[in-house]
Amino acid sequence: MPRFELTQKWKKERHVWRELPEGSRVVIYGRHSPGESQSIDSQAHAMRPWVEERGWLVAREFYDEGIEGSRDDRLAFQAMLAFLHQTPRPVEGIVTWNTSRFGRDQLDSQFYKADLRRRGYVILGKEDGIEQSPLAPVLESMLEWKAQQDLAVIGADTKRGLEYLALQGYWPGGPLPIGYVSEKELLGHRKNGAPRYGNRIRKDPAVADRIQRAWELRLAGASYRDIHDAVHLYDSSKYYSTFFQHSLFAGVLDYGGKRYPATWATGDRFCEPYITLEQFDAVRERARAWSQRRGPGLEQHPRNRVSCYLLSGLAVCGVCLKRGQEVSLAGWTDPRRPSFSSYRCGRKQRVRGSACTLRSVPCWLLEDTIFERVAGEIFTPEYIRAEVTRANAMLAARGGDRERQLRLLEAAEARARNALENLARFIATNGGNPVIEKHYRVADREWKLASAALQSARTERRQARPLKVTEADAREYAGNLVAHMHEGDVALRRRFLAAFIKRVVVYDDDGVIELTDTPALGALNAARRPENSGGRKSPSRWSKVSLIP
Ligand SMILES: [Zn+2]
Repeated sequence: MPRFELTQKWKKERHVWRELPEGSRVVIYGRHSPGESQSIDSQAHAMRPWVEERGWLVAREFYDEGIEGSRDDRLAFQAMLAFLHQTPRPVEGIVTWNTSRFGRDQLDSQFYKADLRRRGYVILGKEDGIEQSPLAPVLESMLEWKAQQDLAVIGADTKRGLEYLALQGYWPGGPLPIGYVSEKELLGHRKNGAPRYGNRIRKDPAVADRIQRAWELRLAGASYRDIHDAVHLYDSSKYYSTFFQHSLFAGVLDYGGKRYPATWATGDRFCEPYITLEQFDAVRERARAWSQRRGPGLEQHPRNRVSCYLLSGLAVCGVCLKRGQEVSLAGWTDPRRPSFSSYRCGRKQRVRGSACTLRSVPCWLLEDTIFERVAGEIFTPEYIRAEVTRANAMLAARGGDRERQLRLLEAAEARARNALENLARFIATNGGNPVIEKHYRVADREWKLASAALQSARTERRQARPLKVTEADAREYAGNLVAHMHEGDVALRRRFLAAFIKRVVVYDDDGVIELTDTPALGALNAARRPENSGGRKSPSRWSKVSLIP
């Protein structure tokens, strides 16, 4: 199907299955795992506005302070399940930071999600970007497989934790700029009793005078060289361009694309400033004007901002790779023609006189070529069949575990009942005494526990039927995914591509897409090349696909 039609089809369907309508009632679930840098508060802080923005009503919130160990430890999660198992349904949806939080591992969360979905709930992960559909488990299983080995999810959690710290006025980490020092402050305690600290920052009295002088000189128009000679903050004058870019000197923290404190515009400050924000802006404006006269400056450097280029970190220069250097392609937009952007070898761009000969590639051309290959070669019927088989096997294995568990519980209950009956017979025949009656009470209690456990396992089995995914459904869903690759949030789409693509090696006229080692992709490759089933990854090559128009 042509791209346009696919996109239209997807747009039409999106409002049906994508999200909960405004006014839907939801519960929020949050979990803090041991070792994570953020807290329950920071999760709640990030989730509530997200929910409110979409017009959903929060019925209840459940938060688990994570403890490693058995399911029984997750009390809030169990309480949420009890709440959600009511009839009629008390809410329409469940909102969580990331649906991989739903279980301790892939199988676990797969099971809970399938079960809740079967009961008619919509489950949304703020950071997932997975749309709701009966086929969501297929994609979820792919992405969760990735989440288990990928630190990207942990990275997002860490970032959120740090943003939360920044909001509370604490330094989010990383080296402090010269002129400031930090002081540890006790924030509270972790579940295990270990203290949690935050860092407040203040002016460093040892250099404060020189910092002040440096800014005064800069505001008066002095050159970096003159400033260096006057204050000697660093070993060399070349560090001052970075120094004068730090808004912290104006008391405003620039972090993750946001400014802190949130009320900076009304004059609130993150720390004691050396200069006013107006003065800082004046210095920055002057530097910007200078760099525009001199061609692309630091502002244009792709690594100095959050990349809006889809293939950042995924595409590498083939020319440099042949020389044994892995150099990422960097996205670049011509400031004179903002609608024209391209990918170029990062080394060629940085190092003057670099021997690299790779020509630049228009962004749209490289991206579209990759989409087409991914759509045509990865989302094949074979791949989808393999993925569906895997998803179903996972669900069936979960069912098998439950059956085994049930057999064990039945045996335990029979043993306990047998022991109790023996004691009862003995007392009936021989009469009781305090010692034997004590044994009887213990045995009676054990039998009651065993039979309660068996009862709840049986109920669980009755309620959870394994979810089956048909291939026709999967194929339709895959079609939507392909359409999805063309629009939406760049970071999300990049993550999605990264689930399949390890890297793309780009040469002038062709390139190689190296796939990740997902189980289903492995199955697909084995099917395609039976003689080469031992190989782990099989690059998918596009040959003689011209990348330059
Ligand atoms: Zn290169």
